[in-house]
This record gives sequence, C-alpha cells and structure tokens, in this order.
Amino acid sequence: MSRLVVVSNRVADPRKSAAAGGLAVALSEALQSSGGLWFGWSGQISEADSGQGATVRLSRAGDTTLATLDLSQADHDAYYLGYANSVLWPVFHNRLDLAALERGDLDGYRRVNRLFAQRLAALLAPDDVIWVHDYHLIPLAAELRALGCSQRIGFFLHIPLPPPLLMAAIPQHEWLMRSLFAYDLVGFQSETDVAHFSRYVRQEGQAAQQGDDHFEAFGRSVRARCIPIGIDVAEFQALGTGREAREMGATLRAQHGTRSLIVGVDRLDYSKGLPQRLRAFRRLLQDYPENHGQTVLLQVAAPSREQVGAYAELRAELEALSGQINGEHGDIDWMPVRYLHRTVSRRRLPGLYASARVALVTPLRDGMNLVAKEYVAAQDPADPGVLVLSRFAGAAEQMTDALLVNPYDIDAVAQATQRALRMPLDERRIRHERLLAGLHRHDVHWWQREFLQRLSEPAHA
Ligand code: ADP
Repeated sequence: MSRLVVVSNRVADPRKSAAAGGLAVALSEALQSSGGLWFGWSGQISEADSGQGATVRLSRAGDTTLATLDLSQADHDAYYLGYANSVLWPVFHNRLDLAALERGDLDGYRRVNRLFAQRLAALLAPDDVIWVHDYHLIPLAAELRALGCSQRIGFFLHIPLPPPLLMAAIPQHEWLMRSLFAYDLVGFQSETDVAHFSRYVRQEGQAAQQGDDHFEAFGRSVRARCIPIGIDVAEFQALGTGREAREMGATLRAQHGTRSLIVGVDRLDYSKGLPQRLRAFRRLLQDYPENHGQTVLLQVAAPSREQVGAYAELRAELEALSGQINGEHGDIDWMPVRYLHRTVSRRRLPGLYASARVALVTPLRDGMNLVAKEYVAAQDPADPGVLVLSRFAGAAEQMTDALLVNPYDIDAVAQATQRALRMPLDERRIRHERLLAGLHRHDVHWWQREFLQRLSEPAHA
C-alpha cells in the first residue's frame, strides 16, 4: 500500500480530533492506515525573509508524521490574506465586488506554493500518493511536477468553482485552470462545480472532454469528478450524548421554555448570507405576528479572517441589524434575536442543534456547508427539527428533503421558516429520516475512500 501524503494550508493534529472536526478525523484515519505524512503551514510567522520559510518541523502523531513550516510575515500576508482570501475566496463565492484583483499578491501566492513544493519534494518517496486540499494550493502540483515529481497527485476543492465568465474576471484565470491539469484527479463538492469546470475547459481552454470525467488540455489529461464531502455522523452523534452537549441542551431549554428556537451557526463570512437571514427573520415577525414572544433566533457567528477588511464591515452590519430587530420587536421578557460573535465548542454544538426547532442555513454561496449536515445528525429522530437550506449551498444537491430556499428572497425565506416552525410531526420525521439516510450513505469516510480509490485508478480507466 502506498503512503498517503496530505497537503493543506493548515495541519490539524489528529490527537485533538474532537476539536478539529470530521475532516481531520477522516484524513487522519487514512493517514494512520498508510503510515502517512501531513504537510502544511504551522500557523506560525517566522522571522525569515519571504520565500525562505523556516525549516520543516517533523513530529509524530501515532503512525502519522506531521510536517509543518512557518511563513514569513510578507508571504503570509500576500499568500493567505491576499491572493487566497482576497481574490480566490470572493470570486469563487460570486463576490467579484469584494475581490482585490489589482493587488500584487499573486507573487506571494506563487512563492508560497513553490516553497511548499520544494520542502515537500525533499520528503517524498517515489510511490507516495499525494492529496492536496483547497484553493490555497491550486498550483502546488504544477510546482511539484516542475521539480520532477511524477507521483499520483489529487486535488480537492472545498469551495465552489465559479462559472466560466466569473472565473475569467481573475486576470490569472488561465494559469489557475491550467494548474489543475497538473493533477491526476480533481474532486469537486457538487455537480454544478463539475459543470463549471467542464464548460470552462471547453470554452476557454479549447479542451476535449473524453468520456464522463476525463479532460485533455495543455498537453495533459485530468479527471474531474463530484465527490461531495460528508461528516462523521457517528462521531458527531456520540458528541451529542456527551456531558457538554447535554448541559448545553438543558441550559437552552431552561432559558427558552416553550419558545421555539431557530438556530444559525456560521463563520462570520459574507458568503453565509447573514444580513439577509436577519432580514428574513424580521420579515417573519412582521408577517406572522403569532411568533411574537414565541420564537427566538439564536445566531452564533464565529470570528474569522478579521485582518481582511470586508469581514470587519460585516460584523458591524450584523450587530446593528440585530439591535434594530430587538429594538423594533422585542419586549421586556422577550429578545427575538440573540446574536453571539463567538465560537461554540464542538462538544457543545450538538446540544445547541438538538434544542432548535429550525436551522437556518442560508449561504449566498457555499461549497458544501457542513452545518446543514451536523444539524440533521444532531436531531432526535422521534421529534426532529427542520432544516431550511439555501439552494446555493453544495449540500442542496444532496439534501433535497430540506426546505430549499433562495436566500436573497427575504419573503420566501420568511415563509419557509414559518412552514418549518409549523410543520407537523409526520412530515418532519419523514424528511429527517431521508436526510439522515443520505448523511450515512455519503459520510466523510465514504468521501475519503472514494477520493483515494478514484485517484488510484489508471488515468484511462
Ligand atoms: P466553512 O468551512 O465555510 O466555515 P462549513 O459549514 O462547511 O463552512 O463548516 C463549518 C464548520 O465549522 C462546521 O463543522 C461547524 O460546526 C463549525 N462552525 C461554524 N461556525 C461555528 C461557530 N460559530 N462555533 C463553532 N463551530 C462553528
């Protein structure tokens, strides 16, 4: 069996898997079974000059080797805050208006990918299988190939791939897409992403599609497939039976009594549609006054990328909006919106989800959205809550038994929320049973096995 090498921007320590979440659990499972290597940025800033990066630090976690390197301040700012999170993230989430396309961060992005490739190449054996993750590292395989690495290399894009015309707004779009052809397999979250890839390479790359998932362009061939990520259902449900989750549930029940709780759990990110969600909740209170005194929206927004300007503005907007709604609609003994700018510990999350009659998962665009899956996994099958899910989340392709909504349509989201609050038990159970069956079928272990299986297949299978 070949050794698996995982490369991602950050490396999660598998020994702290409860904190790290399902992805770390699934990847460490694959890494452990092959005696693998996980390579990435340490999260530390070094004093080194840009492009130099401190030396690679190796540590052991069970049968897995963790290999991390520090980045210089300049490299971190240009690669991570700059090109990855101020160009690729906004454009890939359809927010051209927020993309800092004029900035000179491309050099930093290339420099760090080259640095990663150089440091990683020195650690590779000829029959290793390499699995690269996400938009931070699109050109990594091309850099590795330039150093003579001929190993099998796969790439998984965790965020959406935009349609060709949006992609084309990035000045380096051709270079980015050409870089994908240095991989043997590219995995996407949804069929929509695969369709965007296919259209791009036909329209812009004059590539030939040969067979279902096989594309030829730029003198190389690549396979591209939809392999949607799941959660570790069993692990998440086990967390739900733990002390912290049960205490969370008891606290919320004591606080809210017979009131219906609607929950939103997100990173504070403009892709999550948070202002639209709060407006839809305000519309719910306006259009369905029976919710007065009876319904509470608990929105938890975890601080994220606070050094990027667009995020600070969003925070201020949300604080103002929730204040307005409480001022307009609240009463002495009832605060309709509880807005928390914080992270809830992973061990308590299932208790929060389980106490909520409805979850609003309404991103404007999302590669997958794991909160939708976690919410379903945490429900009591005998009396489950209802998921209201944006049709623009990758999860919507699989979770068709949720109430699917257009998150820009405030009236429609308010209506769907009211329907969710009033949904009879029979219907809730049927929808939940189907959603949960889907989560089990395509959980994170399936995702990991499927990707590695596909990567191991011969190129012209
Ligand atoms: P993204 O990767 O864009 O943040 P996902 O929904 O796919 O979105 O994954 C988010 C992960 O982070 C989930 O596992 C979720 O439980 C966790 N998470 C998001 N927001 C919070 C929060 N406020 N507190 C704790 N965990 C959170």
